[in-house]
Amino acid sequence: MAEHESLEFGKADFVLLDNVSLEEFMANLKLRFEKGRIYTYIGEVVVSVNPYRAMNIYGRDTIEQYKGRELYERPPHLFAIADAAYKAMKRRNKDTCIVISGESGAGKTEASKYIMQYIAAITNPSQRAEVERVKNMLLKSNCVLEAFGNAKTNRNDNSSRFGKYMDINFDFKGDPIGGHINNYLLEKSRVIFQQEGERSFHSFYQLVKGAPDAQLRSLHIQRDPTAYTYIKVGGQIKVLYHVQIKRDYYGWQGSRDLWHLGKIKPFDGDVTLIENSKLVSILGDLLSTKDENVEKALLYRTVATGRDVIDKQHTHQEASYGRDALAKAIYERLFCWIVGRINDIIEVKNYDVRVHGKNTVIGVLDIYGFEIFQNNSFEQFCINYCNEKLQQLFIQLVLKQEQEEYQREGIPWKHIDYFNNQIIVDLVEQQHKGIFAVLDEACMNVGKVTDEMFLQALNGKLAKHAHYTSRKLSPTDKNLEFDRDFRIRHYAGDVAYSVVGFIDKNKDTLFQDFKRLLYNSSNPVLKAMWPEGKLSITEVTKRPLTAATLFKNSMISLVENLASKEPYYVRCIKPNEVKSPLLFEHERCKHQVEYLGLLENVRVRRAGFANRQIYPRFLQRYKMISEFTWPNHDLPSDKEAVKRLLQGCGFEHDVAYGKTKVFIRTPRTIFSLEEQRAEMV
Ligand code: ADP
Ligand code: MG
Repeated sequence: MAEHESLEFGKADFVLLDNVSLEEFMANLKLRFEKGRIYTYIGEVVVSVNPYRAMNIYGRDTIEQYKGRELYERPPHLFAIADAAYKAMKRRNKDTCIVISGESGAGKTEASKYIMQYIAAITNPSQRAEVERVKNMLLKSNCVLEAFGNAKTNRNDNSSRFGKYMDINFDFKGDPIGGHINNYLLEKSRVIFQQEGERSFHSFYQLVKGAPDAQLRSLHIQRDPTAYTYIKVGGQIKVLYHVQIKRDYYGWQGSRDLWHLGKIKPFDGDVTLIENSKLVSILGDLLSTKDENVEKALLYRTVATGRDVIDKQHTHQEASYGRDALAKAIYERLFCWIVGRINDIIEVKNYDVRVHGKNTVIGVLDIYGFEIFQNNSFEQFCINYCNEKLQQLFIQLVLKQEQEEYQREGIPWKHIDYFNNQIIVDLVEQQHKGIFAVLDEACMNVGKVTDEMFLQALNGKLAKHAHYTSRKLSPTDKNLEFDRDFRIRHYAGDVAYSVVGFIDKNKDTLFQDFKRLLYNSSNPVLKAMWPEGKLSITEVTKRPLTAATLFKNSMISLVENLASKEPYYVRCIKPNEVKSPLLFEHERCKHQVEYLGLLENVRVRRAGFANRQIYPRFLQRYKMISEFTWPNHDLPSDKEAVKRLLQGCGFEHDVAYGKTKVFIRTPRTIFSLEEQRAEMV
């Protein structure tokens, strides 16, 4: 429980609510938001509401207040969680992780940055040069990743369009010595298309805005971005979100060809041709390859028929599809390449366990939250599956952690039940029967498989599943508008997905001709991004893994990784849709509180013991309220002294004594202790 703030700010920990009801929870959340208290605890979980205004709570002085303190000693703050994770790592040699969740625009990325800043600020007191270098790189890498991986969306002007997990490695002194970034599912479709009002990735606009004339000329790029098909689709060219341009951004080299690719229009006629041949030669130049090879890859496909190899000309539609797939693939690989370069720079070097002791890790996860749009497709399906996985982890760990602590401390514990979403995780990822498996099977079929056939297969396999339905299965359901939709009952709410595009997006086909084209580029960076291009046409037999399988595998390993660490949670809430610092939209917030399972979280926390503190800490805080302990006690142990103090106050019935900690069941007791303390000091 947090330091006893004045009640005018509401309760600093939701476990202190008089009644655990949604109404009281919401009233407290709203009151605190309106009073500028954006953080509130549920035990050790931080609930955060996006303030949509600059808060004066992240400065050096605030950092000092939280450094080395226990959670309940100061008002709720991200810094307290960061400090707790850091202390656990340093004192107990444990790997920890901080999982930040919430929907788009709720404040996850900002939170992850404050956490990193805090950790950077409290480490390396001796100013070791190498540690300073690593810290700098860790902080600066954000800027590069945001330029290439973030974009303006209708929900967030600086929306991360990829998932990110960053490990920070520490040496035995607790100083950061390196790190590693894993990136997940970049929304590459944004490269070729943006919704009304949205933009492509920041990097494109930064280039035209910030690059010197000579550089733009050498790239054959005009300053006016409206000249480019790919980035003007969303119609929002104005740079609303200004990221300072850095001259040394690595990636321009790689993304420069995309500008022109978007302008290439296959000419519709009997034979597919490229309208503007000058563009082909610009591309040849930028991709460091021969013009005729570019043209050929855009217009033909090399296929092996038996022992013969022939060039088959694309239809207009195939050529356009191929062009867009190439643009998306180039950007995606460029992004992965940038992450790889950053990892090369920040990876732990010259660390010898025998000399330096165990190297421990704090991981920070900033990943896309649950998404329900007007039209939900394959991307939303993957993202929402990811959130199911994380929710499952949350359930397991919160319970597991509680149970383990009681066990360790020798305190009896009664098991608590709540909705377990494993059934939905299985619905998506189970072998043979899961939605991903059905999708992969559909994609394996030779011949033309349509999205509708995939939907039929789903209906056949999942008709009886409690969390799956479709228009075919529930024809009278008003919430299923279209024949092409299926609906999943997620833990966070019902979502209807349109099957349109599932097959295509899952296959994620990029014609082998493009891979060969780029592998044969004389630019070593480009070449290195396309290792599969090495194979000749007759060698290419193995089917690449589908997008769904790749995503599933990456999620499973992410969750395994997180589960091996001691977790800390930040749950972010978005107060309104209009980025206003004043507006607390009740229904929106309530929905988020519900689907994040916050109320259940409070219940579990309260069903056990709301508060626990190690004996010496407890005494330090409350010894002044008992004659037996003030100013010092003469009892054989701190544990005995705490017992004596609590007996004296009449709280015996509400507490349990563990090996190292005192456990207090109801928040009222803490409250009362705090009040008595306040009277004394
Ligand atoms: P998410 O990563 O969850 O999509 P962001 O972290 O990008 O959301 O936050 C969206 C916007 O909200 C930010 O660009 C910023 O303007 C505002 N914001 C978020 N958190 C804070 C904060 N703690 N203080 C001030 N503004 C914030
Ligand atoms: Mg973000």
